[in-house]
Amino acid sequence: MNHNDYVNDQVNKKNFFIKKKFSQNFLLDENIIKKIVKVSDVNQDSYVIEIGPGFGALTKYLVKSSKKLLLYEIDEELIPHLETLFNKDKNIHINHQDFLRTENIDEDIKKYLDDANEVVVISNLPYHITTPIIMKILEESKKVKRLVLMMQLEVAKRLTSKPNTKDYNALSVIIQDQTNAQYMFKVPKTVFKPRPRVDSAVIRLDIYENNGNKLFYQFVHACFMQRRKTLVNNLNASYSVDKEKLKLILEKLNLDDRIRAEALTLEKFKSLYNIFKEEGLM
Ligand code: SAM
Repeated sequence: MNHNDYVNDQVNKKNFFIKKKFSQNFLLDENIIKKIVKVSDVNQDSYVIEIGPGFGALTKYLVKSSKKLLLYEIDEELIPHLETLFNKDKNIHINHQDFLRTENIDEDIKKYLDDANEVVVISNLPYHITTPIIMKILEESKKVKRLVLMMQLEVAKRLTSKPNTKDYNALSVIIQDQTNAQYMFKVPKTVFKPRPRVDSAVIRLDIYENNGNKLFYQFVHACFMQRRKTLVNNLNASYSVDKEKLKLILEKLNLDDRIRAEALTLEKFKSLYNIFKEEGLM
């Protein structure tokens, strides 16, 4: 029985109950799976983590195209399926665990992935925890170097968007400070069981700095606090800095005093933050 028939059979015969609380939307399109593996650039020397393998749709391909694989799956009902599928494979370790509760990702890499220094995370993410998963990896791991992730289209656009677009927000700046964020391709909602309400997309994040500057990220959030307000008004509200002083600072950076946060490049955010720090304004 092929993979799609197997998943359909399990669900239709009620052997398996789909759990909304775990964002279970299983991928049933081999071409999309192959495309994900292709854009992840993994090869026989790669160490890979997959979060939420489900019935192993992607895992089947990853096991053939990597050196060692570490899986985190929260749903205990899926563990026997994964064990049956991969019981002969010595290069897979299955962790029945909530990824967000992993105590130390790099310790797991030490234990199960030969203490590799360059690890790739690949996942068709549980959508309700997209941002916490990405932030956990960026904050905690020094070994994960690349993430290839499927998520809701809207979030994918936000994370990879550029200034002066409607999707650009604090999260775009924070992610792009730490990674080279690239939009890869759209995935229609029709290729999942059950069908989600919205389309998805795959993005690739190549990390250049793990564990970024938290104070800078708070500052970026403050700049975007009320999207329709000017930067001067948002900074005045968050840091109680006089508006005239703020206008002078913007002038120094060749920025219009009516500018909004959505028009600032990452570099301008950094320059502005540096002035705030140097002048003791925060
Ligand atoms: N990879 C499979 C596929 O593409 O068909 C399943 C993807 S489904 C969108 C998300 C998967 O993540 C489910 O298998 C779900 O049980 C699992 N999951 C949800 N929350 C999780 C968590 N906190 N830690 C680990 N796995 C989780």
